[in-house]
Amino acid sequence: ETISVSELARKMNLKASELIGKLMGMGMMVTMNQSIDADTATILASEYDCTVHIVSLYDETVIESESDGSVELLHRPPVVTIMGHVDHGKTKTLDAIRSANVAAGEFGGITQHIGAYTVETGKGKVTFLDTPGHEAFTMMRARGAEITDIVVLVVAADDGVMPQTIEAINHAKDAKVPIIVAVNKIDKPEANPDKVMTQLSERGLIPEAWGGDTIFVPISALQKVGLDTLLDAILLQAEVLELTANYECRAEGKVIESRIDHGRGIVATIIVERGTLRTGDSYVAGVFSGRVRAIFNDRGEKLEEATPSMPVEILGLEGMPNAGDPFQVTETERIARQISSKRQELKRFENSRNIKKVTLDNLYDTINQGEILELKVIIKGDVQGSVEALKQSLEKLSTRDVRLNVIHASAGAINDSDVMLAAADSNAIIIGFNVRPTPQAKLLAEQEKVDIRKYNIIYKAVEEIEQAMEGMLKPDI
Ligand code: GDP
Repeated sequence: ETISVSELARKMNLKASELIGKLMGMGMMVTMNQSIDADTATILASEYDCTVHIVSLYDETVIESESDGSVELLHRPPVVTIMGHVDHGKTKTLDAIRSANVAAGEFGGITQHIGAYTVETGKGKVTFLDTPGHEAFTMMRARGAEITDIVVLVVAADDGVMPQTIEAINHAKDAKVPIIVAVNKIDKPEANPDKVMTQLSERGLIPEAWGGDTIFVPISALQKVGLDTLLDAILLQAEVLELTANYECRAEGKVIESRIDHGRGIVATIIVERGTLRTGDSYVAGVFSGRVRAIFNDRGEKLEEATPSMPVEILGLEGMPNAGDPFQVTETERIARQISSKRQELKRFENSRNIKKVTLDNLYDTINQGEILELKVIIKGDVQGSVEALKQSLEKLSTRDVRLNVIHASAGAINDSDVMLAAADSNAIIIGFNVRPTPQAKLLAEQEKVDIRKYNIIYKAVEEIEQAMEGMLKPDI
């Protein structure tokens, strides 16, 4: 029982390249005309709300799409990640919003941290991811879990734009997630919100008051000032985004975190993306299958069901899935087990094989195959001056066929965050000028197959990238 990728794509009403990309993500290198087996097709289809029926007579694989337009899409709450420089008040903002919107005394005032929480504002619900910062955000993206709808960028008014503020902007922009700016610590005498606005305008985030389209909200997380306005701004942005989901289908979502709880066994927090999750549902989470024994919300209340954008804890897992893993309810327990064992097999396959990422050496091949028209580059250097110089020289290399796009450039060692950003894009390379990767970043780069190039002469770097773009770089260099 096999089906070609192009045929499967046609039946699913998708581009073949989309499926090829997905298969690559599962560690399988295939071309359009290559065939895949029914099990792989089942997994692939399940990623797109489709069901595969294997008709034995002619071994034909038939796809039935559930998302054929007949279902009604309903509004869903936005999912928000808070980013910003260290000590600018991300955690304080998350805590302040949460405590202000949970009725005092409710459940003895016990707030549980399950990785995400939802607040009810009277005008609508908003879900916040509880792990602030762009590391978690990028880690999730690298695993294909793009669950954030809106980024709230916290900038301390007494400190202004700092390196991690810029990193956060780049990460959000790269993910094409809209940014709302929360100018925090306005209670401080030395606060200078205007300076923050000017600095961010230079980075393309222009306040509405100045004719731009970025919402700026002055807040004090400490004194709980401006938080309602911030929530209003988030809901307004959500309205613009027209966030909707199918509430009828079998539930799908992403794992936010998982842990072992004494007495309850393995507990995972998931955010439902579509459908309604119910107690008793069979599912696969990452490579594990299971049956939902119980559902709890972020306040520890037991629920019978969970709907889109809701973060919930589920019990009844057979193993610990990773953050970012997909979660899917299946028709039967048997299907869940099948998919799970297939995924475990694919995972072994993936681990035993190099996942192909863009490196300078294979760049030209990839361009030839028409898979990439853009080379994304991250530049790290010892001083800001050399970073800027290198950035300008490299950007000039863009040709009609290949565009060179510097997605992030800053001074400092190559860190985890840089590698995760490169991995999230799967086709970004990192250039270090007079800097090295931290040991952890080096490990991560090996794991994620991210190409890191080190130089200490600018023209050498430019020359090598240019040659790679022209396809002249010998594979053995
Ligand atoms: P994070 O590293 O971005 O998560 O920052 P935190 O939330 O941990 O805050 C860092 C420090 O700034 C803490 O000492 C907070 O109490 C303080 N802080 C946060 N928000 C405010 C604020 O609105 N006003 C003042 N004065 N201090 C704040």
